[in-house]
Amino acid sequence: MPAARSAPAAAIPAMRRALLAWFGRHRRPMPWRSEISAYRTVVSELMCQQTQIATAIPYFEKWTARWPDFRDLAQADEAEVLALWAGLGYYSRARNLLSLARQVAALARPPRTAAEWREFKGVGPYTAAAIASIAFGEPVAVVDGNVVRVLARLDGVRASLRDASSAAKHFAARAAELVDPKRPGDFNQAMMELGATVCRKGGPDCGRCPLAGWCDAKAKGDAATLPRFVSKERKEAVVDRALVMRAGKVLLRRNPAAARRLAGMAEIPVVASVGLAPDGEPALVRRRTIGAVTYEEKLHAFEPTAADLRRWARDTELEWVDAAGLGGAALSGPHRRWLGEWLSRDGRTARGRRP
Ligand code: SF4
Repeated sequence: MPAARSAPAAAIPAMRRALLAWFGRHRRPMPWRSEISAYRTVVSELMCQQTQIATAIPYFEKWTARWPDFRDLAQADEAEVLALWAGLGYYSRARNLLSLARQVAALARPPRTAAEWREFKGVGPYTAAAIASIAFGEPVAVVDGNVVRVLARLDGVRASLRDASSAAKHFAARAAELVDPKRPGDFNQAMMELGATVCRKGGPDCGRCPLAGWCDAKAKGDAATLPRFVSKERKEAVVDRALVMRAGKVLLRRNPAAARRLAGMAEIPVVASVGLAPDGEPALVRRRTIGAVTYEEKLHAFEPTAADLRRWARDTELEWVDAAGLGGAALSGPHRRWLGEWLSRDGRTARGRRP
């Protein structure tokens, strides 16, 4: 395995200049870049944590139009916050953002340093560094997946990294050494932008890279294979869910506020949880991957009996939601999509039997 070759410390000022000049020419327009504030940086960073930027942009625009600053958001109702977030996934981020806004609104001024931002639930080292450097100019380095990829290639790090979090720790010192103390916010955004648009996961475009002259992986020709991660064991699971409609309303299960996942969100109930059993072909089959598990979601349509309705009336987590109003319900993106597909089908028939 070839040894890593970091560019020497004397090259760092030139690397910063090249990267910042490239960023000045190629930065993509984004709504949180046109007007920078602590609030807009916090919202954009939390929205983009596990979401593609193109997906997050319309949510960011709707969100900041509805709640323009911490004080407005602090007054918001959690159900409305979750409904506006619906479709972005990882709903704990929305709840953390609301809680953070309530705490910040109670302060005389927003926190300024990464260390202070890290005190808030849902704000990890990466997000804290992004907020502090972009909104307040603190010279701290952001290390997200894009930055890890750029640094692994730049320095030719060929060892297998355990996971994203250990990779971020591995590159923290190098990123801190490179960050420009005069323009840390721009530098961090430039590194992330380079990883997203040039030093891409699917393959680097080294011909367009401002750091190509210092890059070990480019010199050795193995950039596309870096960074390397220990391969994870993948698992498969099947979930049977019940599609039930009656008098224009759809049966949903509202997860308790203290639930570990999707707290406060509604979802299509699991068949066994409503006392039904799948029978025959499902109305829809969809696959999705969450972390290391790939789920086969089988959605079965049922016609409820009087006994079902009596039983469900005693289950406080079940609720009937107007099919025409699903757009405003706090429903996760895939569930909303599956319901839309099912409801829009002509000649839909219910099937299934009681256990
Ligand atoms: S030269 Fe290529 S591999 Fe190296 S940092 Fe630039 S895009 Fe990535």
